[in-house]
Amino acid sequence: MKAAIIGYGKSGAAASRLLKLKGYEKIEIFDDKNENYKNISEYKDEYNEVVVSPGIDLNKYKNISGNITSEIELAYNHMDKNAKIIGITGTNGKSTTTFLTAQILNNAGVKACACGNIGYPFGEAVLDKADTEVYVIELSSFQIELLKRFKAAAGCIINVTQDHLDRYGTMDKYYEAKLLLLNFIDKKGLFVTNTDTVIVNKAILYDFQARYIDDNFKSFPKLSGNILDFGKFNVDLSKYKLFGKHNITNLSFALSMADKVCSFEGDITNLIENLTSMPHRTELVAEINGVRWINDSKATNVDSVYTALVSMKKPAVLLIGGRDKKSDYTPLADLINQNISKICYFGEAADLIKSQLSSLLKGVEEESYKSLKECVKSLAEKEKDITVLLSPACTSFDEFKSYEDRGYKFKDYVLEFTGGK
Ligand code: ADP
Repeated sequence: MKAAIIGYGKSGAAASRLLKLKGYEKIEIFDDKNENYKNISEYKDEYNEVVVSPGIDLNKYKNISGNITSEIELAYNHMDKNAKIIGITGTNGKSTTTFLTAQILNNAGVKACACGNIGYPFGEAVLDKADTEVYVIELSSFQIELLKRFKAAAGCIINVTQDHLDRYGTMDKYYEAKLLLLNFIDKKGLFVTNTDTVIVNKAILYDFQARYIDDNFKSFPKLSGNILDFGKFNVDLSKYKLFGKHNITNLSFALSMADKVCSFEGDITNLIENLTSMPHRTELVAEINGVRWINDSKATNVDSVYTALVSMKKPAVLLIGGRDKKSDYTPLADLINQNISKICYFGEAADLIKSQLSSLLKGVEEESYKSLKECVKSLAEKEKDITVLLSPACTSFDEFKSYEDRGYKFKDYVLEFTGGK
């Protein structure tokens, strides 16, 4: 028995462990980016099973054929069938919702594990955390395309907005890929989505129960004052620490799906009080001298900055900059005028962003800095009673190794210059 793995990243390594347990003596690896392995063009259909990584576009490699499977499918087949699955996809908010759902379940006494695209392969979770009761899996559309037998007790499509058109070509094709998830939700299961009619019209054709989250919180769930009401249960948002309206949406998805497993009733605010966000996504890193420092280093494009700005209130400072990706920053101007009192441009793209935004800004103070460090130092010395948001809209590679590195350094600078450490 021999198997092949095409594309060898984290999930490929988990697939290799699972294949060995299935009894494969020979496992051949194909990966164009690693010289230790064969080139994908050399692949021939001579294996009992071939695991394709979600990063591989099968339309580009016509030579890949045979008994095609994926790390997610292998893990699903290996999983203890008493465990349940919650599958999460969407264009934005996947990781946060995955992380929140697992935390809520654990708070409710259910042993849950966040895995999948979030950075911890489902296969690894199945092998190393076999006592898990609910696997909460973040699924990219590429992973969904490779599913076969997989069945989730609950699943969601948080939203579908423009992305990955390089791979899908059109929005119709991208929707199609996301909507495939509907085929992998148990008949007796629950599907949660927003009010996007393309998704809703498709979902009503299935037997599972469906829930539609209203992003404005007027119908389901309904927000009155601080109480977010889901009908049979509710939570007090004054106890919820995550920043921004989008994180109330993510919480609504997480609670709706966790409810399918736990069946909540009444006031369950105690389950949301200690929830934390994923690092680097509108994460409150410190509150010192009345200054709230928010790290949104993951916001490496204009869209993500836009999302963060929607929930800002003056007085607030926006830190924007890094390495430009040939972006158009002008769509941010109106929201900056509305919600931001000072903008600080930093890093390699400082002058470029300023040249696009400056003439569009009204009553917004502007400052430029060579580096993020200088910027934080200067703000730490003079600002009081204000929110400072690092939401760079650019990559980090001019000054840092990655967006994570930029986020951690931001926190270090804040603590260093405010005397917080
Ligand atoms: P993903 O895993 O889908 O990339 P994340 O949870 O990592 O999503 O969030 C990445 C960024 O996407 C956040 O910093 C925020 O700007 C934006 N975002 C998060 N949740 C939502 C949402 N529900 N709707 C729109 N944008 C969101």
